[in-house]
Amino acid sequence: MISNKMIGLVQNSSVIRAMFEEGKRLASIYGAENVYDFSLGNPSVEPPRTVKDAVIETINEESANLVHGYMNNSGYEDVRRAIANSINKKFKTSFGEENIIMTVGAAGGLNVILKTLLNPGDEVITFAPFFGEYRNYVSNFDGELVIVSPNTINFQPNLAEFEEKITPKTKAVIINTPNNPTGVVYSEETIIALSDILRRKQTEFNTSIYLISDEPYRELVYDEIEVPYLTKYYKNTIVGYSFSKSLSLPGERIGYLVIPKEVDDFADITAAANVATRILGFVNAPSLLQRVVAKCLDSEVDVSVYNRNRELLYNSLIDYGYTCVKPEGAFYLFVKALEEDDKAFAAAAKKYNILIVPGSSFGCPGYCRIAYCVDYKTILGSLEGFKKLADEYINK
Ligand code: PLP
Repeated sequence: MISNKMIGLVQNSSVIRAMFEEGKRLASIYGAENVYDFSLGNPSVEPPRTVKDAVIETINEESANLVHGYMNNSGYEDVRRAIANSINKKFKTSFGEENIIMTVGAAGGLNVILKTLLNPGDEVITFAPFFGEYRNYVSNFDGELVIVSPNTINFQPNLAEFEEKITPKTKAVIINTPNNPTGVVYSEETIIALSDILRRKQTEFNTSIYLISDEPYRELVYDEIEVPYLTKYYKNTIVGYSFSKSLSLPGERIGYLVIPKEVDDFADITAAANVATRILGFVNAPSLLQRVVAKCLDSEVDVSVYNRNRELLYNSLIDYGYTCVKPEGAFYLFVKALEEDDKAFAAAAKKYNILIVPGSSFGCPGYCRIAYCVDYKTILGSLEGFKKLADEYINK
């Protein structure tokens, strides 16, 4: 007797997680070392040593009631202050603790801000390809997800179509850069143009349109590429950050929202986000982890490990005749399927024990996502299979 809404959600339940289960099944048959599972964005690099030290220090040296107790639903004030100061130092902003709300990862933060903003029927725009869970998060609050079709030339957002799709019902726009699944970083030029469009449309419709920047991959970038800090370009920006990838702590569920005082209705939004955190059942972000991340704000995982994977995978795939944009960040590579049907192509890859996710899960059929947050030897082991797969299509 589950709800009608859940019946649909269970049926469409994440293809990615289903592949993860498939990986475990194949590993039990062929041995884990002979299965090349690129399906899940689960970090392979260990958290920095500072995390373990901070856990031990927090438990040994801070009061147990403080470390394990309830606090303000928005999080510990001193932790929020430390985070605000760290952002200010990095991006020359001027946030204080009142601008930070601690969240249960990026997923928790997105749900909190969407609950805060959406009335039923409000529209939320995002750009394909996009993290498929956005569909569920928007539907949680009876919003409508409006999808801008992909620009497969370079995977920067398709801004002409974006402008056409903004309506008086547009309440928010979600962007994700560095992007899952493409690894593309939206350029400063893109951000400036997108901000101009939003300002124009706000004036035209006399509305507030909030730009939600979903940033779990902010620190995972290569070749010293800059990721613009969006609050500087558009005043109605709300940032959702997570430590899941930057500190390799996805199971710990810790992140934060940044709500600048310049956003329209700042006081109402921060008050509502505080209540949303409580009544969504989070109550607050995990207390121990709040105290731990505050001590690790200058740490990050060793990105050179992902970079080594990226170089080997990208160069090999290009060599075998595949087409893909070289990722500039995150740990995903979005390869063009060698047949029209991306699901059939992912199924063909499985013959070589290679698990990749069809692009249709990200609103971009015809491509597949390869999550290269795996051991280097997994990539090495997979190359023969990738070559044979290409040969099936290209060198017949
Ligand atoms: N947003 C994007 C784009 C992601 O790729 C992910 C996780 O992979 C999330 C949000 C959720 O992150 P978290 O584990 O911090 O909730």
